[in-house]
Amino acid sequence: MADQTNGPDSGKGGFLSDLFAPVGGFGVTFATMFRKVETEEYPEEKRPTQPRYHGRHQLNRHPDGLEKCVGCELCAWACPADAIFVEGADNTADARFSPGERYGRVYQINYLRCIFCGLCIEACPTRALTMTNFYELADDNRADLIFTKEQLLAPLLEGMLPPPHPMVDGMEERDYYQGKVTSSTPEQEAWVRAREDEPQDGLAPTGDPVIGVDTVADGRQATRDTTEAVRR
Ligand code: SF4
Repeated sequence: MADQTNGPDSGKGGFLSDLFAPVGGFGVTFATMFRKVETEEYPEEKRPTQPRYHGRHQLNRHPDGLEKCVGCELCAWACPADAIFVEGADNTADARFSPGERYGRVYQINYLRCIFCGLCIEACPTRALTMTNFYELADDNRADLIFTKEQLLAPLLEGMLPPPHPMVDGMEERDYYQGKVTSSTPEQEAWVRAREDEPQDGLAPTGDPVIGVDTVADGRQATRDTTEAVRR
């Protein structure tokens, strides 16, 4: 059957539409020229994300600076992408990093694997692990996308002291979770200051654990090994 619209037998309407068809294609272009420009000048101008956007993780601290992570590994078990590696260790009287029995000695998140689903933060029993709105996680090599504990730890705010240091006098672990600790005390400050000039095995003079370098408290070559484990 002959084409009634575009063929040689098409009527006047068909002739006109054929005539303007090439020009009609530019209609979208012309209409777009007068629309408001939506170009984002990224990275010069960064738009704020939604408040609950799932960005880079953060390991939180108690108000006196002790770490909330107790090294339970639940976040690692919950991760569907196997992107988290945790190795817990016991707190001691000389080196206490968290109010509980244990702390996260090694903590790594592999952002080459992470899918930002948030299951890890749901699994965390102490609210140690949360997600920030930070989304600029790109690099030109794989190793730098495996974030270590120092990179993930929340910064020390006013009133916080860098671990290790003792708990607030008279407080138990549950008191920390009940919000009874609001800041470090002069006793904790004195303890930290007395230790500042005495570098400990595997501990930086500030007391921060030397993770992400070569050795840790017990002298094992932990980070390189565990980085390999996360990288697999
Ligand atoms: S971040 Fe939370 S879930 Fe993960 S090891 Fe630490 S306490 Fe456990």
